[in-house]
Amino acid sequence: MTSECISLAERVTRIKPSPTLAVNAKAKALKAAGADILNFSVGEPDFDTPEHVCEAGKKAIDDGHTRYTAVPGIPELREAIVQRFKQDHNWDYSIDQIQVCCGGKHGLYNIFQAIINPGDEVLIPAPYWVSYPPMVQLAGGVPVIIPLEEKDNFDLDPSMLTKYATSKTRAIIINSPSNPAGSLFSETALAAIGKMAIENDWLVITDDIYETITYSNGKIPHILDTDARLMDRTVVLNGVSKSFAMTGWRIGYSAGPAHIIKAMNKIQSQSTSNSSAPAQYAALAALTGPQDFPGMMTEAFLPRRDFCVNELVAMEGVTCVNPGGAFYVFPNFSHYYGREFNGKKINGSVDLSDYFLEEAQVASVPGAAFGCDDFVRFSFATSMDVLRDGMERIKKALAALS
Ligand code: PMP
Ligand code: GLU
Repeated sequence: MTSECISLAERVTRIKPSPTLAVNAKAKALKAAGADILNFSVGEPDFDTPEHVCEAGKKAIDDGHTRYTAVPGIPELREAIVQRFKQDHNWDYSIDQIQVCCGGKHGLYNIFQAIINPGDEVLIPAPYWVSYPPMVQLAGGVPVIIPLEEKDNFDLDPSMLTKYATSKTRAIIINSPSNPAGSLFSETALAAIGKMAIENDWLVITDDIYETITYSNGKIPHILDTDARLMDRTVVLNGVSKSFAMTGWRIGYSAGPAHIIKAMNKIQSQSTSNSSAPAQYAALAALTGPQDFPGMMTEAFLPRRDFCVNELVAMEGVTCVNPGGAFYVFPNFSHYYGREFNGKKINGSVDLSDYFLEEAQVASVPGAAFGCDDFVRFSFATSMDVLRDGMERIKKALAALS
C-alpha cells in the first residue's frame, strides 16, 4: 500500500466515477465470485457486433491499418458519416464538419472542452445521462439542471427554458431518445429550444446515440428539422456503440459547424490523437454495409420493453413512463421510500438499488445518478428469461418492505 502523500487536482475531487460503470463492475465482481446476480445495470446491447463488421476490423489489421490515422478519422469513414446524415436526415455536411473519436462519451468530452469557458452554464434536462454534469464541470462549466416531469412523459415544458436560462447560458444538451427513461422530446419542445438557442446565441448539443432504437412508427422529431438556421449552432453526437452493438470498439462521431469541429480536433490532437485505426474500418463497414441490424435489435427489444413496463406498473404504487426508444425502463419507486427491511430504512434510490442488489441479487442504477431520486433504472438489453426472473425478484423484494 502506498501512502497518499501527493494531493490530487481539485477538478478530480469535484466529480465521482461514472455510476453506471461502477454498478456494472460491482455486479460483475459479485457474479464472478459466484453470486446469482441478474445484471440490469449497464446500458449496452446484448447482441454481438455483426459478423461483417468484425471481419472488416480483422481485415484492417491484416491490411496493415495499424498506424496513426488523421486526427479527425480516416477520410473514408468521415465521408460515410456525411452520406449517412444525408440519407437518414437530408442534412448537408462536408467532411471537415465531421470528427471521429473514441466513443460517444469522448465526443461529448471534446465538445465541452471546445466551447466552455469557466463559469459558462449548460442547460441539462433531468433525468440526464450520468456523464453530462461531470463533463461540463471538467471543462470548468456549471451544469444547470432543468427538472422534467414524469406526468409529461419527461418531455420539456418550454416555459422551463426561460426559468432556468441566464445571461451565462452557453449551451443546452438534448438526448432524445433519452438515457435513462427512453423518453422523447416533442416537436414543440424541440422548436422552443431551437428558438431560444437562436435568440440567445446558445450552442445546441444533441446526443443522438439511441436514434436507431425507437419504438414509434416513423421518424422521431429532431431539432435540426425545426429551423434551418440551427445548422450553424448545433453539434450532433452519434456513434456505432448502440446502433451496431459496438460498445467495446470505441467509435463515436460528431457533426457540426466547421470551426467547432476544428477546435475539437485541436483538443483531440493533444489527447487521444485518433481513435483506433482498425475500429474505424469496422465502423466504416457498419455505416456502409447492410442497415438492417439496428432494426432487428429494436424488434427484439420491443417485447422486452412491453414486458418490463407491464410488470412494473402492475406492482403496487409503481409508475413507469413507456419508453419511446433506447433500452431502459425508469420506474418510480418513491411509494416505497421510508419503508424498512430488517430495521434498515430505504431513504431513496441509492438505498433501494443497494437493497435490490443485496436482497434480490438484481443490479440496477439508482435514479439519483440521473438527477431523479424517485426512480431506478433497469436496462432491458438482456434475455426475456433474465427479465422474467428479475421482475419477479423485484416484486418480491418490494413486497418484503414494511
Ligand atoms: N450518450 C448516452 C446518452 C449514452 O447512454 C452513452 C452510453 N453509452 C453515451 C453517450 C456514450 O456512448 P459510447 O459508449 O459510444 O461512449
Ligand atoms: N451509457 C451506458 C449506460 O448508461 C454505458 C455506461 C457508461 O458509459 O456510463 O449504462
